[in-house]
Amino acid sequence: MSRVVVLDCAEYSVPVIKERLNAGIELLGGWGSFVSAGMKVLLKVNLIGPKAPETGAITHPEFVRALVQILRDLGCVVWIGDSSGGAIGGIAPTGKSFAVSGLARVAQEEGAIIKNFDKEGAVGIKPASGCVEKMYLAKPMFEADLVINLPKQKTHSAAIYTGAVKNLFGCIPGLRKAEYHRLAPRQEELGEVICDIHQAVPVGLHIMDGILAMQGEGPTAGEVYRGEKIIMGTDPLALDTVAAAMLALKVEEVPILATARERKLGVAELAKIEIVGDYDTPPRYPAFKLPRRYRRAAQTNTAFLRRVIAFFKTRPRINKKLCRDCNMCVESCPVQAIDREGKLIDYDTCIECMCCHELCQYEAVELKRENPLAALLTRIYGYH
Ligand code: SF4
Ligand code: SF4
Repeated sequence: MSRVVVLDCAEYSVPVIKERLNAGIELLGGWGSFVSAGMKVLLKVNLIGPKAPETGAITHPEFVRALVQILRDLGCVVWIGDSSGGAIGGIAPTGKSFAVSGLARVAQEEGAIIKNFDKEGAVGIKPASGCVEKMYLAKPMFEADLVINLPKQKTHSAAIYTGAVKNLFGCIPGLRKAEYHRLAPRQEELGEVICDIHQAVPVGLHIMDGILAMQGEGPTAGEVYRGEKIIMGTDPLALDTVAAAMLALKVEEVPILATARERKLGVAELAKIEIVGDYDTPPRYPAFKLPRRYRRAAQTNTAFLRRVIAFFKTRPRINKKLCRDCNMCVESCPVQAIDREGKLIDYDTCIECMCCHELCQYEAVELKRENPLAALLTRIYGYH
């Protein structure tokens, strides 16, 4: 039986968040069972790119500030770390992401240390899945005495949902992430890579920022949804099982979580998860929007619905009117499917990883219906 704490928290007020986090940790054994004075504690945030906190795309800096203050008062040395996706001019934008997100300022004001995973060195591990001979992960993950994972509760246009399990993909430094997308183009395969990371890196605690969640076309271009929740636990799969249920998603509908269940990363049956805090069952988010291309029907296996899925299939297309020619998508595409000059996508090469959609800061990579009739129906009836 795994325990997951679900708490109400309506605002990014540091005193309120601290009170909530302290109440939640009591239900997991208290801070004393996780930390002691002098420990180096790494907060692994979700810093997907240079995004402002109001977008709901990143772990909110005031959420991180609350945790830094708690840990600092307990005598810990606090690190804040991640590696953003994408590349411009062959350089991952992690430094810029720390500045734009406000996390660099929080670190400076609260005496925490920024760990830019692209610059801190890497440790080679042998992945359990054998997908590659050696996988390189950010060194601070192994140097910290405790890693606390701070995912965001979001939809994902390719993965459907992203949370505690997927957040560790950011432990792969810089541009190597694209290489894993190329090696593991299907979400189930990417799930194997992510499970390898979880099995290699000891993470003691997972605390999800669901105060401002993201709905629709996440993880960067979706809409903000006021989830007003904090979700905590030591089992990342149990946490995600509960957090996904809040969005009306089952584990089997999220391929990465389904792989994590097969790999026995944690508990994935709601009946075997003890939910405590302000709720004893997953509180549902009313009128929450899932990503268009992975609506519930798209996850079933009937032949009819498979035809429906094919009919409504979407693929990325670059809107030249919105494009600013930054070339983030061109340089991040794992299979070099995007033409640098014309911004045309070679669909014979494209593996539909949706990295371009995820990483474009100007929302210029749109997901378009492939079938003109489906596109027309979408326009007329607003089908998603
Ligand atoms: S589509 Fe977006 S990421 Fe690609 S070049 Fe244009 S602005 Fe940059
Ligand atoms: S074009 Fe976009 S979706 Fe296709 S492989 Fe490249 S990054 Fe992935």
